[in-house]
Amino acid sequence: MEERSMEAERLVIEDGPTGPRMTRCHGCKQAELRDAARDLSRDLDGHLFIAAVPAQVCGACGEVTHALDDLARFDTAVTRALVAVGARGPEAARWLRKAAGLRAAELADLLGVTPETVSRWETGKHPMDRATAFTLGALASAGPAERAAAVDRLRALGAAA
Ligand SMILES: [Zn+2]
Repeated sequence: MEERSMEAERLVIEDGPTGPRMTRCHGCKQAELRDAARDLSRDLDGHLFIAAVPAQVCGACGEVTHALDDLARFDTAVTRALVAVGARGPEAARWLRKAAGLRAAELADLLGVTPETVSRWETGKHPMDRATAFTLGALASAGPAERAAAVDRLRALGAAA
């Protein structure tokens, strides 16, 4: 088992558009929302990542709401940090696969392994080897166009095998 790290890594999420803003709290319906930031954290295989994420906080009931775009930017920051630390454990494997937008069967097909192998990575029976972790990390942290090109290359490699 991987050692549980006690150290939290603080991430900075990118600025960007957040779409339409709420004008009333969806909890108590009061129009007392103010902009703030709230820490969100994610613990994956003992790597703890924390970031201050923009939020709307209700002054009446205390309800905290994050825009979906800000939550997506938090996830992106976590993905990049996870790749940067070289995480290869089960939670990292599943997180990175999902960040790459792949189902387990698709990933198995792209990498030329069985679905059982992907399952072993994600249940912690066997860590991803370094080459797999590198490839999955690259897929997960790439932008959409870059990712599509990488998937095409993996498909070509599979077809040529
Ligand atoms: Zn409220």
